[in-house]
Amino acid sequence: MSADTLSRVGRSLSDALFPKICYACGSFVRPAEDKTRPSLSDSDLLPLETAFTHVMRAFLCTDCMADFVPVRPPFCSRCGRPFKSSIDESHLCGDCISRKKHFSSARACAVYQGVVLKLIHAYKYQGKTALAEPFGLLLYLAFIRHFAGKQIDAAVAVPLHYRRLRTRGYNQALLMLRHWPGFAEKNRDGSGLEIAIETDALIRRKNTASQTGLGRRERTKNMKNAFAVKSPQRIAGRNILLIDDVYTTGSTSEECSRVLERAGAAEVHILSLARAM
Ligand SMILES: [Zn+2]
Ligand SMILES: [Zn+2]
Repeated sequence: MSADTLSRVGRSLSDALFPKICYACGSFVRPAEDKTRPSLSDSDLLPLETAFTHVMRAFLCTDCMADFVPVRPPFCSRCGRPFKSSIDESHLCGDCISRKKHFSSARACAVYQGVVLKLIHAYKYQGKTALAEPFGLLLYLAFIRHFAGKQIDAAVAVPLHYRRLRTRGYNQALLMLRHWPGFAEKNRDGSGLEIAIETDALIRRKNTASQTGLGRRERTKNMKNAFAVKSPQRIAGRNILLIDDVYTTGSTSEECSRVLERAGAAEVHILSLARAM
């Protein structure tokens, strides 16, 4: 992706949305001067903080902007849980040593706290769907960072139950993912996105109660048989990337991975926008 893509997403959103209110704290946002253009010709390896500043400037005041915390290494090589000590080499965490996971790896873009938590709430519960594109771009940059060398055949968003979908009007994970082909087309070498976006291959058959406030055991129980693979032929033998907005205890990712694996997926990898600590 070229630096232009990053600037374009930031700028077009700024133009479209001023004047407005900070999505995180509600204070009035002054239009930012456009002097924060990326200096690198290739934005793929920009620090995520810098990318965040570019794509979120239409939505945030300066104070909230500075509140972004990316997930940094070292972290568990399986579930992506960050380790406290920065001198730790990446290895498996205690939980991944004691309990085998159905997914091969899980990675996330940001820590689920502060401004990211508020933005995700605005996006999911207040209908702020304009955030789908900047969120999608951050997710895409995290994808390039963590999965560039891997063969990923298809991307699947964690599905909503149709009743939840009807109330909310959109699947927040899928809405972010839908922007990916647009980002990939902007690659300087002209290559497109070689990952198929599979929209209905995985479905949610149980309208699970809110997981908020539940511990891992309850969440796992809550999730049991919540998902099903509708089109195994689109899953079997493929390396699947599962997209979610927030990775909390991993019970949703685990249950989705379990059914994808049972449907014959070769590998399942998880990518989420944010990760609870
Ligand atoms: Zn603010
Ligand atoms: Zn782990």
